Amino acid sequence: MKTIKVSVVTPDGPVYESDVEMVSTKAESGELGILPGHIPMVAPLQIGAVRLKTQGKTDIVAVSGGFVEVRPDKVSILAQSAEQADEIDVDRALRAKERAEKRLNDQKRESVDFKRAELALQRALNRINVSERQF
Ligand code: ATP
Repeated sequence: MKTIKVSVVTPDGPVYESDVEMVSTKAESGELGILPGHIPMVAPLQIGAVRLKTQGKTDIVAVSGGFVEVRPDKVSILAQSAEQADEIDVDRALRAKERAEKRLNDQKRESVDFKRAELALQRALNRINVSERQF
């Protein structure tokens, strides 16, 4: 089976590095599946899960937006934050979810804080889903 190198990198350093058979992720434009030999491209990512198929298993990384860059020999995912499924602190994500939900109930829809809370809620839900492998 053909493979391609993948790295998921954040400002704090690399989170995931491997040779994989397929990368699936959520670009702003929709689901994106990348196989070895994919044409070079750069695309913005949504807050979501990155699935990495490798040797009969699928690794999952939660990413908080960012970009995917596909080059002939490598896929690079550059994210503001990223965690592998088993590194996610679920209690922390649940607390973040509750905080964000409370803010959303208190704020006006058009305020800056409402948008911030909405993104915080998306990050928290994504972490919870990835840790439970549901997405
Ligand atoms: P919180 O309010 O809990 O800090 P957040 O969404 O504001 O959540 P981020 O700004 O996205 O957090 O991330 C800050 C750092 O904390 C990053 O390094 C990120 O990987 C890490 N992080 C955030 N939430 C979790 C979590 N539930 N489990 C593990 N690491 C986390």
